Amino acid sequence: MGDRTTSLRVINTDRFSVGLRARAIDLSGRRLLVTRLTGSDQEKDLTCPVNCRGLGRVRHFRRDSSPGWPPNSLPIDPAGKALGLEPGQLIRAQVFQNSVCNWRCWYCFVDFSLLNGDETRAEWVTADELVRLFREQPDPPRMIDLTGGQPDLTPEWVPWMMDALEEAGLQDSVYLWSDDNLSNDYFWQYLDAATQQRVAHYPKYGRVCCFKGYNAESFAFNTMASRDLFERQFDLMKRLMELGLDLYAYVTLTTPCAKRVIEDMSRFVDKLQHIDPNLPLRTIPLEIRPFTPVVPRLDDDKRRAIDLQQQAIARWRVELGERFTAEELGLKICDIPLLRRGGRHG
Ligand code: SF4
Repeated sequence: MGDRTTSLRVINTDRFSVGLRARAIDLSGRRLLVTRLTGSDQEKDLTCPVNCRGLGRVRHFRRDSSPGWPPNSLPIDPAGKALGLEPGQLIRAQVFQNSVCNWRCWYCFVDFSLLNGDETRAEWVTADELVRLFREQPDPPRMIDLTGGQPDLTPEWVPWMMDALEEAGLQDSVYLWSDDNLSNDYFWQYLDAATQQRVAHYPKYGRVCCFKGYNAESFAFNTMASRDLFERQFDLMKRLMELGLDLYAYVTLTTPCAKRVIEDMSRFVDKLQHIDPNLPLRTIPLEIRPFTPVVPRLDDDKRRAIDLQQQAIARWRVELGERFTAEELGLKICDIPLLRRGGRHG
């Protein structure tokens, strides 16, 4: 699939996922197909040159946001807490991207050509090699971000990185973070129970799951996936919560229509609270802005969706203001207890 897919049919997510996984993982060699960023459109938006032989980049995660939007404390606060750092306005992270994603969000800042498992735009590497490349750079960051793509098409990546960090003696000094678009159950299909528990309880690891819209209509509009999969996102989040991972969430609020935003935002926050009463406090709405790969994908509907997200964020703030006290809303995101988190509490 290329950028042209924005005007084509609904993605068959489950079928597409099977093929993408096959292209992106080599189980016997414990290798992953990791994106080469050199020469990509995405590279034009980077403030630091690509590193790690073109397979990585250093990203500065910043807390500040636009007026009306909550500060983005992810992953700054979870990483800072795990590493014993003073809370700051930004954190540097070493980013690696896997080369596959089963959705095609029109606002994705990755070129769609880097999401197909294309060997000409990626390289087969082991987790040990990634950690070695990470260590060899001058002044490596204190955290590694595994993103994509959809890392959970190849869920082995996270425990393999944990093994590699331990092998290198970095398990106490480097924080590991990964993204999940909540599209598939490969975490349970491909990891055995012991590995699932290892991921859930690895001390310096956090995961952020991204809800792609606040109702089925905005979800389908944003991802090109079937609107039925909006509900699956909540089911998967609940399962991860029950396992005991240190979980956080993003939500994107671009929508083709905001007529029912009051009712639908209320229902969305209800659904988060059904997973855990405090989950909304661990959820950051992300403002969509047009990065370089996004510009050719924009049409009138998408420009309008960028405008309408302002109505949705205003309503999100009202909902949270009605459900939580000022003190609760002021807590650091990593200090908000998850009351239904399995395994351990924090
Ligand atoms: S799920 Fe993430 S990586 Fe995949 S297309 Fe959407 S924004 Fe991009």
